[in-house]
Amino acid sequence: MNHKCVSDPAPALSSRQALRKYFGYDTFRTHQSDIIDRVMDGKDAFVLMPTGSGKSICYQIPSILRPGVGVIVSPLIALMQDQVDALQENGVRAAYLNSSLSAEAASRVIRRVVEGCVDILYVAPERLLMPGFQQLLSRVAIALFAIDEAHCVSQWGHDFRPEYRRIAGVTNAFPGVPRLALTATADRLTRDDIVEKLELNRATAFVSSFDRPNITYRIQLKNSAKKQLLDFLRAEHPDDAGIVYVRTRKRADDIAAWLQEQGLKALPYHAGLARDLRIAHQQRFLREEGVVMVATIAFGMGIDKPDVRFVAHLDLPSSMEAYYQETGRAGRDGQPADAWMVYALADVVAMRKLQETSDGNDAFKQIQRRKLESLLGFCETAVCRRKALLNYFDESYPEVCGNCDNCNESVETWDATIPAQKALSCVYRTGQRFGAAHLTDVLLGNETERIRHLGHHRLKTFGVGQELSARQWRSVYRQLIAAGRLAVTTAAIPGFCLCPESWPVLKGESRLMLRRDPEPVQAKKRSRASVQPAVDFESQADLGLWERLRRLRLEIAQANDIPPFVVFHDKTLREMVLEKPTNRSEFLALNGVGEHKTDQYSERFLDAIRDHEHEKGS
Ligand code: ADP
Ligand code: ZN
Repeated sequence: MNHKCVSDPAPALSSRQALRKYFGYDTFRTHQSDIIDRVMDGKDAFVLMPTGSGKSICYQIPSILRPGVGVIVSPLIALMQDQVDALQENGVRAAYLNSSLSAEAASRVIRRVVEGCVDILYVAPERLLMPGFQQLLSRVAIALFAIDEAHCVSQWGHDFRPEYRRIAGVTNAFPGVPRLALTATADRLTRDDIVEKLELNRATAFVSSFDRPNITYRIQLKNSAKKQLLDFLRAEHPDDAGIVYVRTRKRADDIAAWLQEQGLKALPYHAGLARDLRIAHQQRFLREEGVVMVATIAFGMGIDKPDVRFVAHLDLPSSMEAYYQETGRAGRDGQPADAWMVYALADVVAMRKLQETSDGNDAFKQIQRRKLESLLGFCETAVCRRKALLNYFDESYPEVCGNCDNCNESVETWDATIPAQKALSCVYRTGQRFGAAHLTDVLLGNETERIRHLGHHRLKTFGVGQELSARQWRSVYRQLIAAGRLAVTTAAIPGFCLCPESWPVLKGESRLMLRRDPEPVQAKKRSRASVQPAVDFESQADLGLWERLRRLRLEIAQANDIPPFVVFHDKTLREMVLEKPTNRSEFLALNGVGEHKTDQYSERFLDAIRDHEHEKGS
């Protein structure tokens, strides 16, 4: 880094050639080349594409090819080091400026920028707003401004950053410089806000589908959360990295400790941990293989690990937006990944109560209520999860996906109108304050101590529900709550009470179809054949080679203090195993291998492959 660079203007490459040379890919994905062309022409663009779709290349390639430095504004300081490492690994002249750098390190970066030796410069918004930095910009040529995580400009989004409101003030001072705003946050309000607040009215918008086809969505009933999680991890993700989301700090600690006892490499992450420990855990997640992070929502923003193979929710997320964001951290590399969740009646009740007793005016509560209803409806839906999820974001998905539980396992629905009437009537007659356990006892006609004491054995609804089991009654109550047909009281121990939407059902004006819950005993092991795991080699020998190359990758990563995926992605490694390149040019032809990485690593990997083939042959 400290050598003086001869200011070498990038050779006149086409964007396709740059894609091959620096990133090792042969074809652009949807929108990428249109966006790049536009920016190369000096025009603005607004890019709304889901996580993992390849937004970064849209500003990285024009930054490399256009004269001057590309200035990338990002709030994710923790990420900059890795982003820059990854670019440098690809032979791109990249650097960053943020508060984590010492004064000397920062002035070294600034010197290199002035000398024209930096093509891509990541900065935090605070830095962009500093007068000193703006002076620097006025002294150098600027290739473009890219505003990453552009939703931070909007109060409607979940990560509002006031500094983002002042970005346009800076970029407007450089009228000839193209601007790109990028985000993966979809909703309409936020979208309009971005265009307005970043003053991008002349920008062409590029919007892609929010579908994440490689993610398999599954939502199951919780009966024993820990055991279900462990079964899931052991059966489907034995050595994989992933995130387990829970609602509270204590649960994060407990579950992580328990998974450790079971022999898994699990670590907790939440805002209650000391900063150093948090950072250490995050580093291990990035740099080691197969770490399971058990976390609250404090973890995730700015985690750019491409090979997260699963995101598991042991508690409900707060909304559909949150669900999409959190599950979206899985499978950024495009390889198969799982979004897996378990939930139960108790979660639904807890969420309802939380939201009823929350601060905020009625309008706010109304919005929250609707958001929760959408989420619960999503959990209970019998239609394709992907279709339901995309519809929530106003995107139509005409087919069924074949890659979610509702598509893969048939879901039965049944006409529950009469049982629902009985269930609601039982709530009414017992005084609208009891929970599912007691109500179920009444419906089943269980003469418990408590029931006799309360005189509930004399009610008309006592014993009228013997056609269903206790478990089925809990299912009816859960789905009534989820559908907004029954409300939760705000008492310390919450019970159920009727709401306006209960009456049409009670009066027989609305029919009610419910989902039939699967029997818990059939905790079915999915056949691995249907999963298409990230690694499934035909021969034992290939598996051996895979392990060997993985070890080599880890060695190199540790020696250079970078995450293994910065050396090569799983996908590239996998291709290496299948193709078994024997020389430099075959190596260079692999997906995700550019010229710089070939120079750096081809020898060691080619040797390993040759040795392996040799040992196999002998
Ligand atoms: P986003 O910023 O949209 O979340 P990234 O820019 O991090 O996504 O890209 C996600 C992954 O896709 C990265 O591993 C990247 O190398 C890869 N990628 C991007 N463009 C291409 C392409 N044209 N061909 C193959 N892989 C690509
Ligand atoms: Zn589906």
